[in-house]
This record gives sequence, structure tokens and C-alpha cells, in this order.
Amino acid sequence: MRRVVIVGGGAIGSAIAYFLTRDPGNGEERFEVTVVERDFSYRQASSALSASSIRQQFSTAINIRMSLYGIDFLRNLGETLRVGDEVPDIGLVEPGYLYLASQAGAGVLRENHALQKAHAVDVALLTPDELKARFPWISTEGVELASLGLSGEGWYDGYSLLQAFRRKAVSQGVRYVQTHATGLRLDGRRATGVQIDGGETLDADVVVTATGLNLLALGGIELSVDGVAVSLPERLAYKGMMLSRVPNLVFTIGYTNASWTLKADLVAEYVCRLLEHMERGGYRQCMPVDDDPTLESRPLLDFAAGYVQRSLHLFPRGGSRAPWRLGMSYPQDVVTLRHRALEDGALRFSAP
Ligand SMILES: Cc1cc2nc3c(=O)[nH]c(=O)nc-3n(C[C@H](O)[C@H](O)[C@H](O)COP(=O)(O)OP(=O)(O)OC[C@H]3O[C@@H](n4cnc5c(N)ncnc54)[C@H](O)[C@@H]3O)c2cc1C
Repeated sequence: MRRVVIVGGGAIGSAIAYFLTRDPGNGEERFEVTVVERDFSYRQASSALSASSIRQQFSTAINIRMSLYGIDFLRNLGETLRVGDEVPDIGLVEPGYLYLASQAGAGVLRENHALQKAHAVDVALLTPDELKARFPWISTEGVELASLGLSGEGWYDGYSLLQAFRRKAVSQGVRYVQTHATGLRLDGRRATGVQIDGGETLDADVVVTATGLNLLALGGIELSVDGVAVSLPERLAYKGMMLSRVPNLVFTIGYTNASWTLKADLVAEYVCRLLEHMERGGYRQCMPVDDDPTLESRPLLDFAAGYVQRSLHLFPRGGSRAPWRLGMSYPQDVVTLRHRALEDGALRFSAP
């Protein structure tokens, strides 16, 4: 039997451990699996912190097919992952996702709908009147078309899912070891073992890394201003969307506690206001300047997830007060990004 060592026992690592050791009943190869997990409390694992929602409303066939498999698996999970009398319950509910489109976006929504229907996704297009009839509290102003998931979309408890996979994997003979993987033993380019805290090496024929995702600041773009490279950790983020002493650059970091795109929309609106303001004033350049000596720097994001903590030192920093802080409050951002004056002393306009 081939030995597999999986590094990281979150939802992904534990799911792989489960699938590799379940009996497919067709003589397929079986594996001896060890999972190396540094923290059995999963305090900082994305799988425990996730919003854990699932949708079918995607715009590519591959995503739709994967998610159809996903919802089918989640619906039947009680039986699939039961261990003896213990039937896991992940609290799956399926109230559906609701997408709203303006006139400009209605065509894309219709195209996506056609693709989803071709894959038998349970989704409906609603006119503004139909939308209002279903959800009387929604404002339909500016809405041309809506798309509502009727089933197959909703959310569940991510931590329970991870534990269900883990318990089932253990019942199938998977060994979980609580320790920190520190490196790989290599034979040429081939991994033959996983080094763990204390100096021991776990022998492996196959090594799987499932240690969670890593963030890449600005997608890895290498910035320079007048030929001088910009080191992101040495810059402050202005309103969480521009960089101190870097002109004419805006980026988007969405919400971690709400829809990512809610923030992206506000940033886009802000950029439109900014461009109009520059055109009216004859400016060619706008640049945030952090020359207030009382301003202190701090981590950009106050968020405990491992994938954030692992990468935060590579990101720009935030400041101790506005406008150098990245907030996570939509109502507050509506005020500051949509309505507040652009000229605030920190953002400097010029026409060099
Ligand atoms: C706020 C938030 C909201 C999200 N919302 C959704 C959503 O709505 N829908 C959705 O599908 N996804 C969502 N996600 C993403 C989803 O949660 C993750 O993609 C998924 O949980 C990743 O699982 P994982 O097992 O790869 O990572 P993790 O759960 O992070 O597990 C990785 C494990 O590896 C361990 N590890 C790391 N390094 C080592 C080492 N050297 N040695 C030993 N162990 C190590 C860690 O301790 C950790 O337990 C969200 C994530 C977050 C944080």
C-alpha cells in the first residue's frame, strides 16, 4: 500500500484523507494515510472561520458541475460520513443566492442563466415586479433583472463539515498527528518524506500539501515610482485602497465579513468621483501622503484566519486613524467613499 502524508488537516486535507481511504468497492488502489495537523483546535483554519456558503450560479460549466457535485454530497453527508450511530449534521439550509442586474448587466445574467439551466440548475430569472412580490422589502430601483437560486444554494457549518470528514477518515484508518511540518525530504525533485517538529521524518510515497491558501499582495505586481521599487510593507494603505506616496493607483480589498463585491462597487464609485474631480480641477496626479508624524502604523487587516496572518507582513500597513484604516463596515464606507469630500488633506492633487 502506498503511504500518503497529507500536511494540513482542514476541510481540504481531511476530505482528501476520506476519499483516499474509502472503499470504492471496485478494487481501486487503497492508501495508508497520515495527516499532519499543527493545531487540532482549528482556531485559525479557514475551514472553521469560513462563511461556508455554496452556490450554483456560476458563469462557467466546470464551476457549475463542481458545485452540483458539492451540494449533492452535502445533502447526503449524514449517510455518507456517518460513523456507526453517529450521523453528522452540518446544518445545511438552502435559501438561495440572489443576483441583481442593472440594464447594463442584464445580458450577462441572461447568458449565465442559460448556461445554468443547461446544467439543470434550479434557478429563476425574475422581473423587478416578480422580485418585489417575493421580497417586498427590496428596492427595485435601477434593477432590470434578478436571478434567484430556488434550491441547491445556501450555507452550512464549516467546522462541522471539517469534523465530519475527519471523524470518518479516522474511522477508515487515517492517522492524525498533531505537529508542525517543517520541511520535505527530497530525492531529486521527488518528495520522500515530511519533516516534523523534533527532527523526525515521516516516510511517504506521496505528499499532499493542504495547508490552506496564501494571499499574494496586488497579485504580485512589482511597483516602482520614478524607477524606484516600492516595498509594500513600507507603505500605508489610504482608505484600504491606495498606497502612500504612490500616485494614481487604486486597488480593491473586499469585505471579509460581507460580500466582497459590495466593497468593490464602492471603490469603483469612488474612482469615478476621483476621475471627475481631477478632470474638473485640471489635475494629472493624486497621491496619498502620510506625513503626519503622530500617525502610527499597524497591520492592515485585523483578521485571525491563518491565510491572512501568514501573508500580512508582505502587505502594506494600515494607520492608527482615518483615512489610513481599512474598515469592514459597509454603512461607514458608504459615507466615506460615496459622500465624503475627496480633498481631505492626506490625498494630494497636482498637475506635474
Ligand atoms: C472569512 C471566510 C469566508 C469564507 N467563505 C467561504 C464561502 O462562503 N464559501 C466557500 O466555499 N469558501 C469560503 N471560504 C474559503 C474556505 O473556507 C476555504 O477555501 C477552505 O476552508 C480551505 O480549506 P483548507 O483545508 O485548504 O484550509 P484550512 O482550513 O486553513 O486548513 C489548513 C490547515 O493546515 C494546517 N497547517 C498549515 N501549515 C501547517 C504546517 N506547516 N504543519 C502542519 N499543519 C499545518 C493549519 O493548521 C490548518 O488547519 C471562506 C474563508 C474565510 C476565511
